[in-house]
Amino acid sequence: MEVFINLIHFPVYTLGVGKRIGLWFQGCSIRCKGCMSKYTWEFDEKYKTDVEDVLKEIFSFNVKKITISGGEPFDQSEALEYILKKLKKNNFNDILVYTGYEYDELIKKYKNILDYIDVLIAGRFIEGLESKYIWKGSENQKMYIFNKKLEKIYNDYKKKKKDKRLQIVEKNNDIYILGIPYQKDIKEIMDEFM
Ligand code: SF4
Repeated sequence: MEVFINLIHFPVYTLGVGKRIGLWFQGCSIRCKGCMSKYTWEFDEKYKTDVEDVLKEIFSFNVKKITISGGEPFDQSEALEYILKKLKKNNFNDILVYTGYEYDELIKKYKNILDYIDVLIAGRFIEGLESKYIWKGSENQKMYIFNKKLEKIYNDYKKKKKDKRLQIVEKNNDIYILGIPYQKDIKEIMDEFM
């Protein structure tokens, strides 16, 4: 099965709890105004890869925590489901997924996929709706903790305020900024790095 992937990176410290793998899907049909990841919108052929190669790279890190973001992971629901199934089979115990869709939109269509997710952060990015919390770009976005075992650590994480720490990563001559800045800093970051 083929899938459009923007980036796989380890370690990631700025999206989720602890030291994690990061997997960014390429392609997003939602297109929120002010999105800082516009480079992930197009389903560009150059990002197409085999899902088995993606899994091979993920498993090579020997870590059981992962953050999946994008782009929009649910725009490639078949590949997303396949990857999540394999992660669960390999005892991944902290699978955090970011989506621009609302929980109510997903539960109707993708209940089977949500069953593989431990923590979901859902909702459109709304420009002008600043959030002080480290895990979200705009205040409307919501966190759903499905895995009871992670309730305590994610309820604590939920309260964490943004600090100035972002991760900057270079891969194949491209620069990636990992983490969620304040909206007021996005333009400055874009001007500096994009
Ligand atoms: S859903 Fe995410 S990637 Fe897509 S436009 Fe909105 S913020 Fe950007």
